[in-house]
Amino acid sequence: MSKFIFVVGGVMSGVGKGTATASIGRILQSKGFRVTAVKVDPYINVDAGTMNPVEHGEVFVTEDGDETDQDIGNYERFLDTDITSVNYMTTGRVYREVIERERNLEYGGRTVEVVPHVPEEVVRRIKRAAKEAHADICMVEIGGTVGEYQNILFLEAARMMHLKHPKDVLFVLVSYLPIPFNLGEMKTKPTQYAVRTLNSAGIQPDFIIARASRALDEPRKRKLSQFCNIDERDVISAPDAASVYDVPLNFEQDQVGKRILSKFGLRARQRNDMKEWAKLVKTIHAEKKAVRIAVVGKYFASGDFSLTDAYISVIEAIKAAAWHNGVDPQLDWLDSTEFETHPEKLKELSRYDGILVPGGFGSRGIEGKIAVIRYAREKKIPYFGLCYGMQLATIEFARHVAGLKGAHTTEVNPEAEHPVIHIMPEQEAIVTKKKFGGTMRLGSYACALAAKSHSRKAYGKREVTERHRHRYEFNGDYRERLEKAGLTIAGTSPDGSLVEIVEVKEHPFFVGVQFHPEFKSRPLRPHPLFNAFIKAAIA
Ligand code: GLN
Repeated sequence: MSKFIFVVGGVMSGVGKGTATASIGRILQSKGFRVTAVKVDPYINVDAGTMNPVEHGEVFVTEDGDETDQDIGNYERFLDTDITSVNYMTTGRVYREVIERERNLEYGGRTVEVVPHVPEEVVRRIKRAAKEAHADICMVEIGGTVGEYQNILFLEAARMMHLKHPKDVLFVLVSYLPIPFNLGEMKTKPTQYAVRTLNSAGIQPDFIIARASRALDEPRKRKLSQFCNIDERDVISAPDAASVYDVPLNFEQDQVGKRILSKFGLRARQRNDMKEWAKLVKTIHAEKKAVRIAVVGKYFASGDFSLTDAYISVIEAIKAAAWHNGVDPQLDWLDSTEFETHPEKLKELSRYDGILVPGGFGSRGIEGKIAVIRYAREKKIPYFGLCYGMQLATIEFARHVAGLKGAHTTEVNPEAEHPVIHIMPEQEAIVTKKKFGGTMRLGSYACALAAKSHSRKAYGKREVTERHRHRYEFNGDYRERLEKAGLTIAGTSPDGSLVEIVEVKEHPFFVGVQFHPEFKSRPLRPHPLFNAFIKAAIA
């Protein structure tokens, strides 16, 4: 039987529950255990694929094509393993399964109730995820904050698991301790209330991760211990960190790994193997030459705040490649619509070492992106286009190099004179039927690389697999014309039918990929294409 660690949040959201979950997982992994991680999201959406990134953050795509929460990306990066669909669940997914089972008479005529049948299904899914990953330890992060209505059934599932396997289940509360400006003192009361709320769901936390802008001092550790009924050694100080990659090392200062193992009655299977990780953290904080990268997108604005969460895997992939090359990644977020209203701003792009256009949907801001791509191509600034960034690069090339003025994607203009990007034939039927959820071309597909391309050189092999998420694609009818005009088709599906990578010749680096390489980048193993892009940017 695997061991399970439930991670829940208290006081408020956004304090780094995902990072805490991934960090604890990494620590336990470094002690020789097989670790997997499950994300439980309380919303009704069956997956994250139908949600606006500004509202929800990035949609992370797994190898097997699930559209999940960005925390799954955190787990993949911290644990350096592929996480699959069974490790992700939402209220919608759980209810759908229960209802389908009921329709199939699988409850044998009994009344199907919210409790226990829904939490039972949650437990079944958690156990299945642990089993499929052959995990010694399975981290389970419950989305939301304790005390809200939405996640109560998931807490109930956790309580049920603990009741049945008290020695195999632990609870971690990630809480927040505010320091009100006019008091200048760190307050523990909100955390005390969070623990009480958790208690009323039948759960006593074994650990409190005390997130705050500063480290926890002894008096407050004592207070939390007393009022929350928890050993002082299990109150873990978690001050704001300069980088998320610091977090596992910070946690280990309070020996959280050792404490967890002793509660489980386990012994470390090897001496801590965090050497490479510590080396990475050292590089992150070392004085380095800067590489300036502009990311041009549209999912930044949310009221007065600019949220970069929508592109978190892209950001982490750029950073990983920069650190690997010993440079300091300096990223700027440029809203593509700016370049539509203020074309004179394009000139300001000359100060960047590299320009990246990430994935996207719809029409807003795309002419701005196309103008940016043109600038990068003509001024020979290294350019990397991901998914929409590849499709728009194709349109830009068709319009301004191949002379196809009316070139467009049918996503934006269904009547385009030259639909160089068009809907994939199998997608057409899906869209007409309005079956949008989980129906794009999703997950891992093979891509054959052309000799003498930037991509082939970067990967150092002939065939790779990459993750996809799109409905539109390069229109094969235009292939010859664009190739004649100088576009390189650097990657295709192995049968040659689908164009997966386009490149421009006589350019230090101009690569557009139909897939999302950012999902496969790992902090200690940067993605080959990001690596090559950063190398070109440095040069
Ligand atoms: N909107 C484009 C498509 O659906 C690109 C999608 C993306 O960038 N992920 O094909």
